[in-house]
Amino acid sequence: MINVTKTFLPPQDEYQAILKRAWGTGWVTNRGVLVQELEQKLKDYLGVANILAMTNGTLPLQIAIKALGLKGEIITTPFSYVATTSSIVWEGCTPVFVDIHPGYLTIDETKIEAAITSKTSAILATHVFGNPCAIEVIENIAKKHHLKVIYDAAHCFGVQYKGQSIFNYGDMSTCSFHATKLFHTGEGGAIVFKDDTLYNDLYYRHNFGHKGNEDFFGLGINAKMSELQAAMGLALFPHLDSILEARRFIVDFYNTQLQDTNLKFLKLRGHTNWNYSYYPIIFNNETQLLKVVKALNAADIFPRRYFYPSLDNLPYIKNQHCEISNRIGSSILCLPLYHDLIEKQQIRIVELIKVHL
Ligand SMILES: *Cc1c(COP(=O)(O)O)cnc(C)c1O
Repeated sequence: MINVTKTFLPPQDEYQAILKRAWGTGWVTNRGVLVQELEQKLKDYLGVANILAMTNGTLPLQIAIKALGLKGEIITTPFSYVATTSSIVWEGCTPVFVDIHPGYLTIDETKIEAAITSKTSAILATHVFGNPCAIEVIENIAKKHHLKVIYDAAHCFGVQYKGQSIFNYGDMSTCSFHATKLFHTGEGGAIVFKDDTLYNDLYYRHNFGHKGNEDFFGLGINAKMSELQAAMGLALFPHLDSILEARRFIVDFYNTQLQDTNLKFLKLRGHTNWNYSYYPIIFNNETQLLKVVKALNAADIFPRRYFYPSLDNLPYIKNQHCEISNRIGSSILCLPLYHDLIEKQQIRIVELIKVHL
């Protein structure tokens, strides 16, 4: 069976060698040495100023909204994973959708200003499939209207924009280290931010609000990453370059093999050093997509309709229809893309797509 992705698992002895250190200290969570080491390695590798590792990629979104004191309406994208929208609602704010650009698949920056009201407090946008939003335009709009900017950068591990980590843009960025993501800790995630003065606030908030053993800073939650999760991340590090290289190779293959079809592809924004995280193809319509999916499934190949459905269709969202997001959502398919997808399998996938278009 070939799935859309396959979790990279490091050689067991390498993972165990790191776990041994946790056994040695008897310390399995509460920010032990492994979490601290992982954070340091991430800072160096990514080139970011501050990072807090967390237990998944959703709590950082909720904590960001809480820490920035956001209220009222938050402008966001309907074309993302559900966590982007659910975090806004969970924090008692109202998501206001702005439709997406049909090529870049990120929020359409030219439509943001029209959606701003007196209740708008922030923009929460997703760098979809690691493709950067229109960062400069969003920054200017935010400045002009005194809005905060959070980026859901769950797909962006290793992405650089204009020569630096994409996590360095906006007030805060969040990342996911879920097992389906390029860099993972089983479950896991992080919040990244430039402003050092936010560190204590975010630290306390991800640890119940504790300020020392007997004092409290304020309201917090438990979002701590465990040592067992951090060990997985540390075990992955030595393999990162080869993982990225393998993915680049597969993306190049898909690009060359599918370019003479009538499919459409993700349009990467300029000045982007991409991470080959997903390979979406866009069909002319849903009927064509379903035909290809059926043929692939029959051959035991399971691509994923990602993102589908468009988030304006969520049961707790009322009366917001985004035409482009719905159209793209119903005709987009992410092809299998992972480190050890072999050439024979890639050829089979491409052939099946081409004969059923
Ligand atoms: C994976 C993902 C998340 C959530 O991350 P978890 O680690 O699964 O909680 C949030 N946003 C986007 C865009 C994602 O793809």
